Amino acid sequence: MNLKEKIALVTGASSGIGEAVAKALAGKGVKVGLAARRTDKLEGVLAEIQAEGGEGIIITMDVTDRNSVTKGVDLLLETYGKIDILINNAGVMYLSDIDALKLDEWEKMVDINIKGILNPTGAVLPHLIAQKSGHIINTSSIAGRKLFQGLGVYCATKHAVAAFSDIMRMEIAPKHHIRVTSIQPGAVATELQQHTTDPKYKEAMANSTYPPLLPEDIASSMLYALEAPDHVDVSEIFILPSEQA
Ligand code: NDP
Repeated sequence: MNLKEKIALVTGASSGIGEAVAKALAGKGVKVGLAARRTDKLEGVLAEIQAEGGEGIIITMDVTDRNSVTKGVDLLLETYGKIDILINNAGVMYLSDIDALKLDEWEKMVDINIKGILNPTGAVLPHLIAQKSGHIINTSSIAGRKLFQGLGVYCATKHAVAAFSDIMRMEIAPKHHIRVTSIQPGAVATELQQHTTDPKYKEAMANSTYPPLLPEDIASSMLYALEAPDHVDVSEIFILPSEQA
């Protein structure tokens, strides 16, 4: 896909991987809808994009809320007239053992990591189907391929993302000419790790010994999938820090 003049929606664009991919896309001439809840952070990201000559709009969106997602997609369509790329990236991770019973954290992970992929997909897919082209990238995780103690619910949500993503690819790629990619990163240096409240796992993460990936590394891998020739669907990218087992 030649990215120039394409229109993208990036969820979770206020920090980390989403911010990096939004900037990378804008650098390729894509007009980007920057979606997240923290509007002030999105304003900062958009200002940086515009300072480099890029274009985009801010979309205050809660991916768990279907109305909020529909409104955001409508705003993008009113502004640019179409949508070509959906980066389903918003997500949260809270580590804890299952018997700690942190039910509020479980619920947030299920709502944001699973419904937060389904809602934007449901809102965007009809437009991609109508134009018979497009690309959806879903951010799963190494936790969508492997199991880790302390990540019971997070692993469950990311396995769900990986399963949904590949079945979507099977169903819609041949029928509607829409490509689907699942990105499965190992540890990336972002705000994600800061949300964990469990002291044992906070300490374990603080004592990690290897250099993590940077958000820009994930953005590059997404560009690789997006810029592949039309007959190529990069269905999965498993990308790890070199020293992560
Ligand atoms: P960050 O915490 O930096 O980014 C998470 C993003 O999700 C933020 O922009 C946040 O924005 C957004 N978000 C959270 N809840 C909602 C919501 N309800 N509605 C809309 N946006 C929301 O972490 P990362 O960049 O690391 O995370 C991005 C994705 O990458 C996640 O899906 C994560 O699971 C995945 N991942 C991360 C890895 C890592 O090691 N960092 C490894 C593997 C996968 P706001 O709070 O403003 O709404």
